[in-house]
Amino acid sequence: MDLLSRFGSTISNKSKDVAKKAKELAEISNLNSQIDLQEEIIDKLCLEIGKTVYEKRDLFPDSALAEKYTAVTNAYAEIARLRSAIITAKGAKQCPGCGIEVALGNAFCPGCGTAVPAPEPYVENIVIPPDSVIYYPDTSDDP
Ligand SMILES: [Zn+2]
Repeated sequence: MDLLSRFGSTISNKSKDVAKKAKELAEISNLNSQIDLQEEIIDKLCLEIGKTVYEKRDLFPDSALAEKYTAVTNAYAEIARLRSAIITAKGAKQCPGCGIEVALGNAFCPGCGTAVPAPEPYVENIVIPPDSVIYYPDTSDDP
């Protein structure tokens, strides 16, 4: 093999190596995408499982979860309080039956027919009690 042939052969082998490497990287990238997809599926299903367990928490008494059950219940109560505050801030009132917003002039809820009393006077400064529990989920990777 003369020098020029050997040089050409070396270039050819190098380009084959580069093509092989590019193919490997593409395959790894594709496999990583598939792993990401499976992880998204797991996350979505675990969220649904968690919501189901919370909703059926009476069937799953678990001292390790009790604190989290309470935190979720408190968060739902806080959402209800905030929604109520939004209705009050808009100058409307809230149906005690179904919770929808009712115009001040309506004595009855247009949604469910429940009598809706005049609202309490709006309090400008809402004080959050110091013993309010705010739960921040653990975002570490510990199982
Ligand atoms: Zn109603």
